Amino acid sequence: MKLYRIKKSNIDRNGRGLYATKNIKKGTRIIDYIGKIITKKKSDQSEKFDNSKPIYLFDLNSRYDLDGDYSWNTAKLINHSCSNNCEYEGQGLKLWVIAIKDIKKDEELTCDYGFSYDSDYKQFPCKCKSKNCCGYIVRSESRWRINKRFRLSFKKNNRVNR
Ligand SMILES: [Zn+2]
Repeated sequence: MKLYRIKKSNIDRNGRGLYATKNIKKGTRIIDYIGKIITKKKSDQSEKFDNSKPIYLFDLNSRYDLDGDYSWNTAKLINHSCSNNCEYEGQGLKLWVIAIKDIKKDEELTCDYGFSYDSDYKQFPCKCKSKNCCGYIVRSESRWRINKRFRLSFKKNNRVNR
């Protein structure tokens, strides 16, 4: 039995998302993130990957990117949340999604898209409605730049991690 099913998303009103079909333990590998491996040279030159749609492009290493923008890549349906319960993990040229929290049955699976903060961040509003939401899809380390509220928690987290 698959750990996920496709359903209309609560986060992305016009789109779909993945939902847990049963309780999932933290650390569980849920789904592979599949796509086509392309050279950085190609992704740099292709119009498909200009700043308007970086969502499905992953940086694998200094030479290769993974383009996951294909209908057969079910994992691309996972939406961004500022309180994500999953994370992308990879090794070599492979990527997958793991649970970083215990996830309850019927919860939507979410990741941190990890967009860096730049002048374009307003193109990507976030509607995750979580308590932590900063309003935009920006990686957690950069959210304090948008909202001062996050400055404190960022510093605090940093201290704990050291
Ligand atoms: Zn959010």
